[in-house]
Amino acid sequence: TDFKSDKQPTWCPGCGDFGTMNGMMKALANTGNSPDDTFICAGIGCSGKIGTYMHSYALHGVHGRALPVGTGVKLANPDLEVMVAGGDGDGYSIGAGHFIHAVRRNVDMTYVVMDNRIYGLTKGQFSPTSREDFETSTSPEGTKQSPVHPLALAMAAGGSFIAQSFSSDAMRHTEIIEEAIEHDGFSLVNTYSPCVTFNDVDTYDFFRDSLIDLEDEEEEHDPTDYDQAREKIMDFDNIYQGVLYQDDDSVGYEKRLGIDEPMNEIPDGAPEGAMDLVREFY
Ligand code: SF4
Repeated sequence: TDFKSDKQPTWCPGCGDFGTMNGMMKALANTGNSPDDTFICAGIGCSGKIGTYMHSYALHGVHGRALPVGTGVKLANPDLEVMVAGGDGDGYSIGAGHFIHAVRRNVDMTYVVMDNRIYGLTKGQFSPTSREDFETSTSPEGTKQSPVHPLALAMAAGGSFIAQSFSSDAMRHTEIIEEAIEHDGFSLVNTYSPCVTFNDVDTYDFFRDSLIDLEDEEEEHDPTDYDQAREKIMDFDNIYQGVLYQDDDSVGYEKRLGIDEPMNEIPDGAPEGAMDLVREFY
């Protein structure tokens, strides 16, 4: 697609991040976006490199701090399609505070978390979503702590769009990201993106065998039904793929603030040089 840059990814062959990124690029193109109206913010981790491999405006920022940057970009220029990408360590550990507030603030952007249940870039330490019995270099006898449940966290924070996908299921992953882009408000897509180098437990086969697609459920799942959504999201014994919850009445924070056009001037008191930075983005 137009969204592919000419840089060759340095991800390990077979890494789930390839599929996650491909779906993001396809979904952006399928929803009518172009690189010059798209902004990707990323944090630190293997996932953080995504802004280099995609052709759009991008910022590879600080660990756990991609969401505040995305918030600022969207409020400064609501015409941009803002996507934030990160990993489970980046988003649910050091960035967990920002995550909760981004969810409840409900700025119109899409947050794709490449959840591989491990820290890959730093070579295999357990992460906030690692299972309790996962043995790693930093947890030789298992983590001995409960994993974070990102979808439940998002629901508790008042999330308006909560979804989960799998990088290897290209069609469903792309469709789910498309729905997230089209949602007016903050959309979480927790995407299982296996780390083939450091995680031999949460593998492609594990997700293929375990994920339950909401589209295949006997009783049709209605994501706008809060009680149905809560039941699935709080079911920690199973993992689901699809849009688990969507608030139909959601309105992005920037609209509620009445921001409907790009900010072309820096407000009084902003740091020197800020205008040059803004000019680069327009
Ligand atoms: Fe992917 Fe893991 Fe390699 Fe990082 S270390 S690029 S997450 S396979």
